[in-house]
Amino acid sequence: MTPFSDLGLNPMILQALAEIGFETPTPIQGKVIPHLINSENDLVALAQTGTGKTAAFSLPIIHQLDDSSDQVQALILCPTRELAIQIAKDVESFLKYLPGTAVLSVYGGERVDKQIRAFKKKPKIVVGTPGRTNDLIRRGVLKVNHLTWLVLDEADEMLNMGFKEELDSILETTPNSKQVLLFSATMNKEIRRIANNYMKKPDDITVGEKNKGADNVQHFYYVVHERDRYQTLRRIADANPDIHALVFCRTRRETQQVADKLIQDHYSAEAIHGEISQDQRTHVMNRFRDKKIQLLVATDVAARGIDVAKLTHVINYNIPDRLDAYVHRSGRTGRANNSGISLVIVNMREKYKIRMLESKVGKSFEQARIPSGEDICEKQLFSLVDKVCNMEVNEAQIGKYIGLISKKFEHMSRDELIKKLISEEFNRFLNHYKDSADLNSNVGSERAPRYDKSHVLFARFNINIGKRMGLHVKELFNFINEQRELKGVEIGTITIKDSYTLLEVDEKYKDKVLDCFGRADMNGVSMKISCEQTGIRSTRQSSGKSGAGRRKSGGYGGRTGAPSRYGRSSGNGGKKRHSGGGSPRRKKRY
Ligand code: AMP
Repeated sequence: MTPFSDLGLNPMILQALAEIGFETPTPIQGKVIPHLINSENDLVALAQTGTGKTAAFSLPIIHQLDDSSDQVQALILCPTRELAIQIAKDVESFLKYLPGTAVLSVYGGERVDKQIRAFKKKPKIVVGTPGRTNDLIRRGVLKVNHLTWLVLDEADEMLNMGFKEELDSILETTPNSKQVLLFSATMNKEIRRIANNYMKKPDDITVGEKNKGADNVQHFYYVVHERDRYQTLRRIADANPDIHALVFCRTRRETQQVADKLIQDHYSAEAIHGEISQDQRTHVMNRFRDKKIQLLVATDVAARGIDVAKLTHVINYNIPDRLDAYVHRSGRTGRANNSGISLVIVNMREKYKIRMLESKVGKSFEQARIPSGEDICEKQLFSLVDKVCNMEVNEAQIGKYIGLISKKFEHMSRDELIKKLISEEFNRFLNHYKDSADLNSNVGSERAPRYDKSHVLFARFNINIGKRMGLHVKELFNFINEQRELKGVEIGTITIKDSYTLLEVDEKYKDKVLDCFGRADMNGVSMKISCEQTGIRSTRQSSGKSGAGRRKSGGYGGRTGAPSRYGRSSGNGGKKRHSGGGSPRRKKRY
Protein backbone atom coordinates (compact mmCIF):
# COMPACT_ATOMS: atom_id res chain seq x y z
CA MET A 1 0.00 0.00 0.00
CA THR A 2 1.17 3.57 -0.73
CA PRO A 3 2.46 5.19 2.46
CA PHE A 4 1.33 8.69 3.46
CA SER A 5 4.74 10.03 2.43
CA ASP A 6 3.93 9.24 -1.21
CA LEU A 7 0.84 11.45 -1.22
CA GLY A 8 2.86 14.67 -1.28
CA LEU A 9 1.87 15.94 2.17
CA ASN A 10 3.91 18.47 4.16
CA PRO A 11 6.63 16.73 6.31
CA MET A 12 5.23 18.40 9.44
CA ILE A 13 1.93 16.67 8.80
CA LEU A 14 3.70 13.37 8.16
CA GLN A 15 5.52 13.66 11.46
CA ALA A 16 2.22 14.19 13.31
CA LEU A 17 0.64 11.20 11.50
CA ALA A 18 3.56 8.98 12.42
CA GLU A 19 3.10 9.91 16.07
CA ILE A 20 -0.62 9.21 15.98
CA GLY A 21 0.15 5.85 14.44
CA PHE A 22 -1.38 6.40 10.99
CA GLU A 23 0.99 4.48 8.73
CA THR A 24 -0.90 3.85 5.53
CA PRO A 25 -3.89 5.76 4.16
CA THR A 26 -7.30 4.12 4.31
CA PRO A 27 -8.97 3.63 0.87
CA ILE A 28 -10.93 6.90 1.11
CA GLN A 29 -7.77 8.78 2.13
CA GLY A 30 -5.84 7.17 -0.71
CA LYS A 31 -8.38 8.59 -3.17
CA VAL A 32 -9.42 11.91 -1.62
CA ILE A 33 -6.03 13.30 -0.53
CA PRO A 34 -4.39 13.28 -3.99
CA HIS A 35 -7.63 14.57 -5.53
CA LEU A 36 -7.79 17.59 -3.22
CA ILE A 37 -4.10 18.38 -3.56
CA ASN A 38 -4.29 18.31 -7.34
CA SER A 39 -7.76 19.60 -8.18
CA GLU A 40 -10.01 22.50 -7.28
CA ASN A 41 -13.12 20.69 -8.42
CA ASP A 42 -15.96 20.13 -5.99
CA LEU A 43 -16.25 16.59 -4.70
CA VAL A 44 -19.02 14.21 -3.67
CA ALA A 45 -17.48 11.35 -1.69
CA LEU A 46 -19.55 8.38 -0.60
CA ALA A 47 -18.07 6.44 2.26
CA GLN A 48 -19.24 4.89 5.48
CA THR A 49 -18.55 6.32 8.88
CA GLY A 50 -15.37 5.03 10.41
CA THR A 51 -13.45 4.80 7.14
CA GLY A 52 -11.07 7.68 7.90
CA LYS A 53 -12.99 10.55 6.30
CA THR A 54 -11.78 13.16 8.77
CA ALA A 55 -8.15 12.77 7.75
CA ALA A 56 -9.21 12.38 4.12
CA PHE A 57 -10.55 15.95 3.91
CA SER A 58 -8.56 17.68 6.63
CA LEU A 59 -5.00 16.60 5.70
CA PRO A 60 -5.06 18.12 2.19
CA ILE A 61 -6.76 21.24 3.58
CA ILE A 62 -4.07 21.65 6.25
CA HIS A 63 -1.44 21.03 3.59
CA GLN A 64 -2.77 23.91 1.47
CA LEU A 65 -3.66 26.50 4.16
CA ASP A 66 -2.42 30.01 3.45
CA ASP A 67 -0.04 30.83 6.33
CA SER A 68 -0.06 34.53 5.54
CA SER A 69 -3.80 34.91 6.14
CA ASP A 70 -5.62 35.16 9.49
CA GLN A 71 -9.01 34.50 7.98
CA VAL A 72 -11.21 31.42 8.33
CA GLN A 73 -10.20 29.37 5.30
CA ALA A 74 -11.99 26.08 5.93
CA LEU A 75 -15.44 25.50 7.37
CA ILE A 76 -16.37 21.92 8.23
CA LEU A 77 -20.05 21.29 8.92
CA CYS A 78 -21.20 18.13 10.68
CA PRO A 79 -24.44 16.96 12.33
CA THR A 80 -23.65 16.93 16.06
CA ARG A 81 -21.58 18.69 18.67
CA GLU A 82 -19.97 15.38 19.57
CA LEU A 83 -18.73 14.98 16.02
CA ALA A 84 -17.67 18.66 15.82
CA ILE A 85 -15.56 18.22 18.95
CA GLN A 86 -14.11 14.97 17.63
CA ILE A 87 -13.19 16.43 14.23
CA ALA A 88 -11.61 19.51 15.84
CA LYS A 89 -9.60 17.23 18.12
CA ASP A 90 -8.40 15.14 15.16
CA VAL A 91 -7.48 18.26 13.18
CA GLU A 92 -5.59 19.62 16.18
CA SER A 93 -3.57 16.42 16.37
CA PHE A 94 -2.68 16.71 12.66
CA LEU A 95 -1.60 20.32 13.32
CA LYS A 96 0.77 19.40 16.13
CA TYR A 97 3.91 20.47 14.25
CA LEU A 98 2.29 23.48 12.59
CA PRO A 99 1.93 25.82 15.54
CA GLY A 100 0.06 29.03 14.97
CA THR A 101 -2.77 27.38 13.08
CA ALA A 102 -5.86 27.30 15.26
CA VAL A 103 -8.98 25.21 14.88
CA LEU A 104 -12.24 26.05 16.64
CA SER A 105 -15.40 24.02 17.17
CA VAL A 106 -18.83 25.69 17.51
CA TYR A 107 -22.08 23.96 18.36
CA GLY A 108 -25.42 24.48 20.05
CA GLY A 109 -26.00 23.68 23.70
CA GLU A 110 -23.12 25.85 24.86
CA ARG A 111 -23.14 29.56 25.63
CA VAL A 112 -22.70 31.53 22.44
CA ASP A 113 -20.72 34.37 24.11
CA LYS A 114 -18.00 31.90 25.10
CA GLN A 115 -17.76 30.69 21.51
CA ILE A 116 -17.75 34.26 20.20
CA ARG A 117 -14.77 35.08 22.43
CA ALA A 118 -12.90 32.05 21.07
CA PHE A 119 -12.80 33.70 17.64
CA LYS A 120 -10.09 36.00 19.07
CA LYS A 121 -7.72 33.06 18.47
CA LYS A 122 -8.17 33.71 14.73
CA PRO A 123 -8.97 30.13 13.74
CA LYS A 124 -8.12 29.16 10.19
CA ILE A 125 -10.37 26.10 10.43
CA VAL A 126 -13.85 26.14 12.00
CA VAL A 127 -15.80 22.96 12.67
CA GLY A 128 -19.47 23.45 13.50
CA THR A 129 -23.00 22.16 13.58
CA PRO A 130 -25.22 23.89 10.99
CA GLY A 131 -27.49 25.75 13.44
CA ARG A 132 -24.81 27.43 15.54
CA THR A 133 -22.55 28.03 12.54
CA ASN A 134 -25.35 29.79 10.66
CA ASP A 135 -26.12 31.84 13.74
CA LEU A 136 -22.49 32.97 14.07
CA ILE A 137 -22.34 33.87 10.37
CA ARG A 138 -25.54 35.96 10.74
CA ARG A 139 -24.05 37.72 13.78
CA GLY A 140 -20.99 38.63 11.73
CA VAL A 141 -18.71 36.76 14.13
CA LEU A 142 -17.80 33.99 11.75
CA LYS A 143 -16.60 35.73 8.60
CA VAL A 144 -16.75 33.47 5.60
CA ASN A 145 -15.81 35.84 2.79
CA HIS A 146 -12.33 34.30 2.47
CA LEU A 147 -13.47 30.73 2.67
CA THR A 148 -11.53 28.36 0.39
CA TRP A 149 -13.08 25.04 1.49
CA LEU A 150 -16.54 24.13 2.71
CA VAL A 151 -16.82 20.53 3.90
CA LEU A 152 -20.21 18.91 4.49
CA ASP A 153 -19.43 15.86 6.60
CA GLU A 154 -22.18 13.26 7.05
CA ALA A 155 -24.39 15.38 4.82
CA ASP A 156 -27.14 12.74 4.83
CA GLU A 157 -27.37 12.92 8.61
CA MET A 158 -27.43 16.72 8.64
CA LEU A 159 -30.39 16.61 6.26
CA ASN A 160 -32.11 13.85 8.23
CA MET A 161 -31.76 15.95 11.33
CA GLY A 162 -33.63 18.82 9.72
CA PHE A 163 -30.71 21.18 8.95
CA LYS A 164 -31.82 21.73 5.34
CA GLU A 165 -32.51 25.45 5.74
CA GLU A 166 -29.30 26.17 7.61
CA LEU A 167 -27.28 24.26 5.01
CA ASP A 168 -28.95 26.12 2.16
CA SER A 169 -28.29 29.40 3.89
CA ILE A 170 -24.59 28.64 4.56
CA LEU A 171 -24.06 27.35 1.03
CA GLU A 172 -25.59 30.54 -0.36
CA THR A 173 -23.75 32.98 1.93
CA THR A 174 -20.27 31.58 1.35
CA PRO A 175 -18.24 32.73 -1.69
CA ASN A 176 -18.80 31.11 -5.06
CA SER A 177 -15.12 30.43 -5.46
CA LYS A 178 -14.98 27.95 -2.55
CA GLN A 179 -14.37 24.26 -3.13
CA VAL A 180 -17.28 22.23 -1.73
CA LEU A 181 -16.53 18.76 -0.42
CA LEU A 182 -19.58 16.68 0.40
CA PHE A 183 -19.18 13.45 2.37
CA SER A 184 -22.07 11.12 2.93
CA ALA A 185 -22.63 7.50 3.88
CA THR A 186 -25.76 7.29 1.75
CA MET A 187 -26.90 8.90 -1.49
CA ASN A 188 -30.45 10.18 -1.81
CA LYS A 189 -32.57 12.80 -3.55
CA GLU A 190 -31.74 15.59 -1.12
CA ILE A 191 -27.99 15.03 -1.43
CA ARG A 192 -28.37 15.13 -5.21
CA ARG A 193 -30.32 18.38 -4.88
CA ILE A 194 -27.48 19.98 -2.91
CA ALA A 195 -24.93 18.70 -5.42
CA ASN A 196 -26.99 20.08 -8.33
CA ASN A 197 -27.80 23.44 -6.75
CA TYR A 198 -24.63 24.36 -4.93
CA MET A 199 -21.76 22.44 -6.47
CA LYS A 200 -19.97 22.96 -9.75
CA LYS A 201 -19.71 19.71 -11.70
CA PRO A 202 -18.48 17.77 -8.71
CA ASP A 203 -16.17 14.79 -9.10
CA ASP A 204 -17.39 11.56 -7.53
CA ILE A 205 -15.42 9.27 -5.30
CA THR A 206 -17.05 6.16 -3.89
CA VAL A 207 -15.39 3.79 -1.52
CA GLY A 208 -17.24 0.49 -1.21
CA GLU A 209 -20.73 0.23 -2.63
CA LYS A 210 -23.14 3.15 -2.50
CA ASN A 211 -25.42 3.24 0.56
CA LYS A 212 -23.82 0.10 1.92
CA GLY A 213 -22.56 -0.82 5.35
CA ALA A 214 -18.97 -1.33 6.36
CA ASP A 215 -17.38 -4.48 4.93
CA ASN A 216 -15.81 -5.71 8.12
CA VAL A 217 -18.99 -5.73 10.23
CA GLN A 218 -20.98 -8.94 10.74
CA HIS A 219 -24.71 -8.66 11.39
CA PHE A 220 -26.75 -10.99 13.60
CA TYR A 221 -30.33 -10.85 14.84
CA TYR A 222 -32.32 -12.39 17.68
CA VAL A 223 -36.06 -13.03 17.51
CA VAL A 224 -37.70 -12.67 20.90
CA HIS A 225 -41.04 -12.02 22.55
CA GLU A 226 -41.44 -8.31 23.15
CA ARG A 227 -41.49 -8.89 26.90
CA ASP A 228 -38.05 -10.57 26.73
CA ARG A 229 -36.23 -7.72 24.97
CA TYR A 230 -34.45 -6.46 28.06
CA GLN A 231 -33.57 -9.96 29.30
CA THR A 232 -32.09 -10.66 25.87
CA LEU A 233 -29.86 -7.61 26.20
CA ARG A 234 -28.73 -8.88 29.60
CA ARG A 235 -27.93 -12.27 28.18
CA ILE A 236 -25.90 -10.75 25.36
CA ALA A 237 -23.94 -8.74 27.91
CA ASP A 238 -23.49 -11.71 30.24
CA ALA A 239 -22.39 -14.03 27.44
CA ASN A 240 -19.66 -11.52 26.51
CA PRO A 241 -17.82 -10.75 29.74
CA ASP A 242 -15.47 -8.27 28.02
CA ILE A 243 -18.21 -6.49 26.14
CA HIS A 244 -17.66 -2.81 25.26
CA ALA A 245 -20.74 -1.84 23.33
CA LEU A 246 -23.03 0.91 22.16
CA VAL A 247 -26.68 0.02 22.76
CA PHE A 248 -29.06 1.94 20.50
CA CYS A 249 -32.60 2.79 21.56
CA ARG A 250 -35.30 4.64 19.69
CA THR A 251 -36.22 7.40 22.11
CA ARG A 252 -34.65 9.38 24.93
CA ARG A 253 -37.07 7.82 27.36
CA GLU A 254 -36.29 4.28 26.32
CA THR A 255 -32.57 5.07 26.39
CA GLN A 256 -32.78 6.32 29.97
CA GLN A 257 -35.02 3.44 31.07
CA VAL A 258 -32.74 0.77 29.64
CA ALA A 259 -29.65 2.39 31.15
CA ASP A 260 -31.38 2.74 34.54
CA LYS A 261 -32.39 -0.92 34.52
CA LEU A 262 -28.89 -2.03 33.58
CA ILE A 263 -27.39 0.06 36.37
CA GLN A 264 -29.92 -1.36 38.82
CA ASP A 265 -28.92 -4.84 37.71
CA HIS A 266 -25.26 -4.02 38.44
CA TYR A 267 -24.02 -3.56 34.89
CA SER A 268 -21.46 -0.94 34.08
CA ALA A 269 -23.75 1.26 31.97
CA GLU A 270 -24.66 4.90 31.28
CA ALA A 271 -27.02 6.77 28.97
CA ILE A 272 -26.43 9.62 26.55
CA HIS A 273 -29.27 11.46 24.86
CA GLY A 274 -30.40 14.97 24.14
CA GLU A 275 -31.45 15.76 27.69
CA ILE A 276 -28.01 15.12 29.13
CA SER A 277 -25.88 18.23 29.69
CA GLN A 278 -22.74 18.74 27.65
CA ASP A 279 -20.50 18.39 30.72
CA GLN A 280 -22.16 15.16 31.79
CA ARG A 281 -21.93 13.86 28.26
CA THR A 282 -18.22 14.61 27.98
CA HIS A 283 -17.67 12.93 31.35
CA VAL A 284 -19.61 9.82 30.27
CA MET A 285 -17.86 9.67 26.90
CA ASN A 286 -14.42 9.87 28.51
CA ARG A 287 -15.30 7.07 30.89
CA PHE A 288 -16.65 4.98 28.01
CA ARG A 289 -13.49 5.56 25.97
CA ASP A 290 -11.38 4.56 28.96
CA LYS A 291 -13.46 1.36 29.21
CA LYS A 292 -14.73 2.32 32.65
CA ILE A 293 -18.23 1.94 31.23
CA GLN A 294 -19.01 -1.24 29.31
CA LEU A 295 -22.45 -0.43 27.90
CA LEU A 296 -23.27 3.02 26.58
CA VAL A 297 -26.99 3.31 25.85
CA ALA A 298 -27.68 6.02 23.29
CA THR A 299 -30.17 7.56 20.90
CA ASP A 300 -29.18 7.80 17.24
CA VAL A 301 -28.65 11.52 17.45
CA ALA A 302 -26.55 11.45 20.60
CA ALA A 303 -24.32 8.70 19.24
CA ARG A 304 -23.46 10.51 16.03
CA GLY A 305 -19.78 11.23 15.92
CA ILE A 306 -18.87 8.82 18.65
CA ASP A 307 -15.54 7.45 17.65
CA VAL A 308 -14.45 4.79 20.05
CA ALA A 309 -11.83 2.42 18.81
CA LYS A 310 -12.52 -1.30 18.86
CA LEU A 311 -16.05 -1.49 20.19
CA THR A 312 -16.85 -5.17 20.58
CA HIS A 313 -20.52 -4.77 19.60
CA VAL A 314 -23.20 -2.42 18.43
CA ILE A 315 -26.52 -3.59 19.87
CA ASN A 316 -29.78 -2.46 18.32
CA TYR A 317 -32.11 -2.73 21.30
CA ASN A 318 -34.81 -1.62 18.89
CA ILE A 319 -34.66 -1.21 15.13
CA PRO A 320 -34.42 2.48 14.19
CA ASP A 321 -37.59 4.04 12.75
CA ARG A 322 -35.59 5.30 9.81
CA LEU A 323 -33.80 2.24 8.48
CA ASP A 324 -30.98 4.35 7.01
CA ALA A 325 -29.88 5.02 10.57
CA TYR A 326 -28.92 1.36 10.87
CA VAL A 327 -26.03 1.90 8.44
CA HIS A 328 -24.71 4.64 10.72
CA ARG A 329 -25.30 2.64 13.89
CA SER A 330 -23.46 -0.43 12.67
CA GLY A 331 -20.68 1.82 11.32
CA ARG A 332 -19.78 2.66 14.92
CA THR A 333 -18.07 -0.71 15.13
CA GLY A 334 -15.58 -2.22 12.68
CA ARG A 335 -13.77 1.12 12.43
CA ALA A 336 -10.31 1.67 10.97
CA ASN A 337 -10.07 -1.84 9.53
CA ASN A 338 -11.04 -3.60 12.77
CA SER A 339 -13.78 -6.20 12.61
CA GLY A 340 -17.07 -5.55 14.34
CA ILE A 341 -20.38 -7.16 15.28
CA SER A 342 -23.80 -5.55 15.02
CA LEU A 343 -26.67 -7.29 16.84
CA VAL A 344 -30.36 -6.60 16.32
CA ILE A 345 -33.12 -7.60 18.72
CA VAL A 346 -36.49 -7.98 16.98
CA ASN A 347 -39.87 -9.31 17.99
CA MET A 348 -41.89 -11.63 15.78
CA ARG A 349 -43.84 -8.80 14.22
CA GLU A 350 -40.74 -6.85 13.24
CA LYS A 351 -38.87 -9.82 11.87
CA TYR A 352 -39.68 -8.91 8.27
CA LYS A 353 -37.69 -5.70 8.66
CA ILE A 354 -34.48 -7.73 8.81
CA ARG A 355 -34.84 -8.33 5.07
CA MET A 356 -35.11 -4.56 4.58
CA LEU A 357 -32.00 -3.96 6.67
CA GLU A 358 -30.15 -6.61 4.68
CA SER A 359 -30.88 -4.77 1.48
CA LYS A 360 -29.86 -1.42 3.05
CA VAL A 361 -26.54 -2.82 4.24
CA GLY A 362 -26.00 -5.11 1.26
CA LYS A 363 -25.18 -8.09 3.43
CA SER A 364 -27.13 -10.99 4.80
CA PHE A 365 -27.89 -11.11 8.50
CA GLU A 366 -27.53 -14.33 10.40
CA GLN A 367 -30.08 -15.39 12.97
CA ALA A 368 -28.41 -16.12 16.28
CA ARG A 369 -29.70 -18.07 19.26
CA ILE A 370 -30.00 -16.23 22.53
CA PRO A 371 -27.51 -17.87 24.86
CA SER A 372 -29.03 -20.12 27.48
CA GLY A 373 -28.41 -19.67 31.18
CA GLU A 374 -26.03 -22.61 31.07
CA ASP A 375 -24.02 -21.15 28.14
CA ILE A 376 -23.67 -17.92 30.05
CA CYS A 377 -22.61 -19.49 33.32
CA GLU A 378 -19.99 -21.49 31.47
CA LYS A 379 -18.68 -18.41 29.65
CA GLN A 380 -18.54 -16.41 32.85
CA LEU A 381 -16.86 -19.20 34.73
CA PHE A 382 -14.03 -19.57 32.24
CA SER A 383 -13.65 -15.84 31.88
CA LEU A 384 -13.25 -15.62 35.63
CA VAL A 385 -10.70 -18.44 35.61
CA ASP A 386 -8.76 -16.64 32.84
CA LYS A 387 -8.85 -13.41 34.82
CA VAL A 388 -7.49 -15.16 37.90
CA CYS A 389 -4.71 -16.76 35.79
CA ASN A 390 -3.73 -13.39 34.33
CA MET A 391 -4.12 -11.40 37.53
CA GLU A 392 -1.05 -9.41 38.48
CA VAL A 393 -0.13 -9.91 42.11
CA ASN A 394 1.22 -7.07 44.17
CA GLU A 395 3.77 -9.05 46.16
CA ALA A 396 4.74 -6.16 48.41
CA GLN A 397 1.17 -5.63 49.55
CA ILE A 398 -0.15 -9.18 49.61
CA GLY A 399 3.03 -10.99 50.70
CA LYS A 400 2.79 -9.97 54.32
CA TYR A 401 -0.68 -11.47 54.73
CA ILE A 402 0.03 -14.78 53.03
CA GLY A 403 1.09 -16.62 56.18
CA LEU A 404 -2.07 -15.65 58.01
CA ILE A 405 -4.34 -16.37 55.05
CA SER A 406 -2.75 -19.79 54.42
CA LYS A 407 -3.41 -20.67 58.02
CA LYS A 408 -7.10 -19.80 57.65
CA PHE A 409 -7.39 -22.03 54.59
CA GLU A 410 -5.34 -24.82 56.15
CA HIS A 411 -8.26 -27.17 56.71
CA MET A 412 -9.47 -26.97 53.08
CA SER A 413 -8.38 -29.10 50.18
CA ARG A 414 -7.11 -27.38 47.03
CA ASP A 415 -10.37 -28.22 45.17
CA GLU A 416 -12.52 -26.96 47.99
CA LEU A 417 -10.61 -23.69 48.11
CA ILE A 418 -10.86 -23.17 44.34
CA LYS A 419 -14.60 -23.86 44.42
CA LYS A 420 -15.18 -21.41 47.23
CA LEU A 421 -13.10 -18.61 45.73
CA ILE A 422 -14.74 -18.98 42.34
CA SER A 423 -18.23 -19.14 43.86
CA GLU A 424 -17.67 -15.83 45.62
CA GLU A 425 -17.72 -14.10 42.24
CA PHE A 426 -19.73 -16.57 40.21
CA ASN A 427 -22.81 -17.16 42.37
CA ARG A 428 -24.50 -14.02 41.03
CA PHE A 429 -24.79 -15.63 37.59
CA LEU A 430 -25.70 -19.05 38.92
CA ASN A 431 -28.54 -17.55 40.94
CA HIS A 432 -29.81 -15.35 38.16
CA TYR A 433 -29.82 -18.08 35.54
CA LYS A 434 -31.05 -20.91 37.74
CA ASP A 435 -34.08 -22.44 35.93
CA SER A 436 -33.87 -19.72 33.26
CA ALA A 437 -36.13 -20.03 30.24
CA ASP A 438 -35.24 -20.30 26.56
CA LEU A 439 -35.94 -16.79 25.22
CA ASN A 440 -35.70 -17.68 21.54
CA SER A 441 -39.07 -17.05 20.03
CA ASN A 442 -39.36 -18.44 16.56
CA VAL A 443 -39.35 -21.45 14.33
CA GLY A 444 -35.94 -22.64 15.39
CA SER A 445 -37.10 -22.72 19.00
CA GLU A 446 -37.09 -26.07 20.72
CA ARG A 447 -39.82 -25.26 23.14
CA ALA A 448 -43.30 -26.61 22.48
CA PRO A 449 -45.66 -24.14 20.81
CA ARG A 450 -47.40 -22.16 23.47
CA TYR A 451 -50.90 -23.52 23.05
CA ASP A 452 -50.10 -26.99 21.85
CA LYS A 453 -51.58 -29.26 24.50
CA SER A 454 -50.47 -32.50 22.96
CA HIS A 455 -47.68 -32.79 25.53
CA VAL A 456 -50.02 -32.37 28.54
CA LEU A 457 -51.72 -35.27 30.33
CA PHE A 458 -54.99 -34.23 31.93
CA ALA A 459 -56.96 -35.42 34.94
CA ARG A 460 -60.79 -35.28 34.65
CA PHE A 461 -62.70 -34.04 37.70
CA ASN A 462 -66.38 -34.29 38.48
CA ILE A 463 -67.79 -31.34 40.41
CA ASN A 464 -71.22 -31.55 42.03
CA ILE A 465 -72.38 -28.15 40.75
CA GLY A 466 -73.73 -27.30 37.32
CA LYS A 467 -75.74 -24.80 35.33
CA ARG A 468 -78.75 -25.07 37.59
CA MET A 469 -76.70 -23.66 40.48
CA GLY A 470 -75.60 -20.82 38.23
CA LEU A 471 -72.12 -22.10 37.29
CA HIS A 472 -70.81 -20.84 33.98
CA VAL A 473 -67.45 -21.19 32.28
CA LYS A 474 -66.48 -17.62 33.01
CA GLU A 475 -67.03 -18.06 36.73
CA LEU A 476 -65.14 -21.32 36.72
CA PHE A 477 -62.16 -19.69 35.03
CA ASN A 478 -62.26 -16.76 37.36
CA PHE A 479 -62.27 -19.07 40.35
CA ILE A 480 -59.27 -21.01 39.02
CA ASN A 481 -57.46 -17.78 38.24
CA GLU A 482 -57.87 -16.64 41.80
CA GLN A 483 -56.11 -19.70 43.21
CA ARG A 484 -52.42 -18.96 43.56
CA GLU A 485 -51.66 -22.70 43.60
CA LEU A 486 -53.24 -23.09 40.15
CA LYS A 487 -51.54 -20.13 38.43
CA GLY A 488 -50.90 -20.83 34.75
CA VAL A 489 -52.34 -24.34 34.91
CA GLU A 490 -53.33 -25.93 31.61
CA ILE A 491 -57.08 -26.54 31.31
CA GLY A 492 -58.49 -29.20 29.00
CA THR A 493 -62.15 -29.71 28.25
CA ILE A 494 -64.86 -28.21 30.44
CA THR A 495 -68.37 -29.61 30.16
CA ILE A 496 -71.02 -27.93 32.27
CA LYS A 497 -74.20 -29.96 32.64
CA ASP A 498 -77.34 -29.01 34.60
CA SER A 499 -76.31 -30.64 37.86
CA TYR A 500 -72.62 -31.35 37.53
CA THR A 501 -69.48 -30.24 35.74
CA LEU A 502 -66.63 -32.17 34.16
CA LEU A 503 -63.34 -30.32 34.24
CA GLU A 504 -60.01 -31.42 32.79
CA VAL A 505 -56.83 -29.99 34.34
CA ASP A 506 -53.16 -30.84 33.86
CA GLU A 507 -52.82 -33.97 36.01
CA LYS A 508 -49.72 -32.63 37.72
CA TYR A 509 -52.08 -30.28 39.58
CA LYS A 510 -54.47 -33.03 40.68
CA ASP A 511 -53.97 -32.61 44.43
CA LYS A 512 -54.03 -28.84 44.25
CA VAL A 513 -57.31 -28.90 42.29
CA LEU A 514 -58.89 -31.28 44.80
CA ASP A 515 -57.71 -29.07 47.63
CA CYS A 516 -58.85 -25.73 46.16
CA PHE A 517 -62.30 -26.92 45.02
CA GLY A 518 -62.79 -29.09 48.11
CA ARG A 519 -62.62 -25.98 50.26
CA ALA A 520 -64.91 -23.81 48.12
CA ASP A 521 -68.63 -23.20 48.14
CA MET A 522 -71.08 -21.82 45.69
CA ASN A 523 -74.15 -19.92 46.79
CA GLY A 524 -73.79 -21.60 50.15
CA VAL A 525 -73.45 -25.13 48.79
CA SER A 526 -70.18 -26.89 49.51
CA MET A 527 -68.42 -28.08 46.40
CA LYS A 528 -67.69 -31.77 46.17
CA ILE A 529 -65.04 -32.78 43.69
CA SER A 530 -63.64 -36.15 42.74
CA CYS A 531 -61.08 -37.24 40.20
CA GLU A 532 -62.61 -39.64 37.64
CA GLN A 533 -59.67 -40.36 35.42
CA THR A 534 -56.03 -39.40 34.84
CA GLY A 535 -53.63 -39.70 31.87
CA ILE A 536 -56.09 -38.17 29.39
CA ARG A 537 -54.52 -36.77 26.25
CA SER A 538 -56.23 -33.67 24.93
CA THR A 539 -57.82 -34.12 21.53
CA ARG A 540 -57.94 -30.43 20.85
CA GLN A 541 -55.61 -27.48 20.28
CA SER A 542 -56.75 -24.42 22.09
CA SER A 543 -57.32 -21.18 20.22
CA GLY A 544 -54.73 -19.68 22.45
CA LYS A 545 -57.01 -17.60 24.62
CA SER A 546 -57.89 -18.56 28.14
CA GLY A 547 -61.48 -19.47 28.42
CA ALA A 548 -62.15 -19.24 24.71
CA GLY A 549 -62.24 -22.01 22.14
CA ARG A 550 -65.75 -23.44 22.37
CA ARG A 551 -66.01 -27.08 21.36
CA LYS A 552 -68.84 -28.73 19.47
CA SER A 553 -69.72 -30.66 22.62
CA GLY A 554 -70.13 -27.48 24.60
CA GLY A 555 -66.76 -27.83 26.28
CA TYR A 556 -64.19 -25.06 26.80
CA GLY A 557 -60.53 -25.01 27.46
CA GLY A 558 -57.51 -22.77 27.80
CA ARG A 559 -54.77 -21.67 30.07
CA THR A 560 -55.43 -19.77 33.25
CA GLY A 561 -53.72 -16.58 34.21
CA ALA A 562 -56.03 -13.86 32.88
CA PRO A 563 -56.70 -11.25 35.53
CA SER A 564 -59.89 -11.94 37.37
CA ARG A 565 -62.58 -9.38 38.01
CA TYR A 566 -63.76 -11.35 41.03
CA GLY A 567 -62.36 -10.79 44.51
CA ARG A 568 -61.34 -13.51 46.91
CA SER A 569 -63.80 -14.65 49.55
CA SER A 570 -63.20 -12.76 52.74
CA GLY A 571 -64.28 -15.77 54.80
CA ASN A 572 -66.94 -15.86 57.45
CA GLY A 573 -65.64 -17.61 60.47
CA GLY A 574 -66.05 -21.07 58.99
CA LYS A 575 -69.80 -20.77 58.38
CA LYS A 576 -71.14 -21.45 54.93
CA ARG A 577 -71.65 -18.25 53.17
CA HIS A 578 -74.02 -17.18 50.48
CA SER A 579 -71.93 -15.41 47.93
CA GLY A 580 -74.87 -13.77 46.20
CA GLY A 581 -73.40 -14.13 42.69
CA GLY A 582 -72.98 -17.21 40.55
CA SER A 583 -69.32 -17.49 41.40
CA PRO A 584 -67.77 -20.27 43.48
CA ARG A 585 -66.09 -18.99 46.62
CA ARG A 586 -63.19 -20.36 48.52
CA LYS A 587 -63.84 -20.91 52.20
CA LYS A 588 -61.55 -19.29 54.71
CA ARG A 589 -58.46 -21.31 55.50
CA TYR A 590 -57.53 -21.68 59.19
P1 AMP B 1 -13.10 8.72 10.82
O1 AMP B 1 -13.88 8.03 9.73
O2 AMP B 1 -12.32 9.86 10.33
O3 AMP B 1 -13.97 9.05 11.98
O4 AMP B 1 -12.00 7.67 11.34
C1 AMP B 1 -12.35 6.47 11.96
C2 AMP B 1 -11.24 5.94 12.85
O5 AMP B 1 -10.15 5.49 12.04
C3 AMP B 1 -10.64 6.96 13.79
O6 AMP B 1 -10.47 6.31 15.03
C4 AMP B 1 -9.32 7.32 13.20
O7 AMP B 1 -8.40 7.71 14.20
C5 AMP B 1 -8.91 6.05 12.52
N1 AMP B 1 -8.07 6.27 11.32
C6 AMP B 1 -8.30 7.13 10.31
N2 AMP B 1 -7.36 7.03 9.38
C7 AMP B 1 -6.50 6.09 9.79
C8 AMP B 1 -5.29 5.53 9.24
N3 AMP B 1 -4.80 5.93 8.07
N4 AMP B 1 -4.64 4.58 9.94
C9 AMP B 1 -5.15 4.16 11.13
N5 AMP B 1 -6.27 4.64 11.69
C10 AMP B 1 -6.95 5.59 11.03
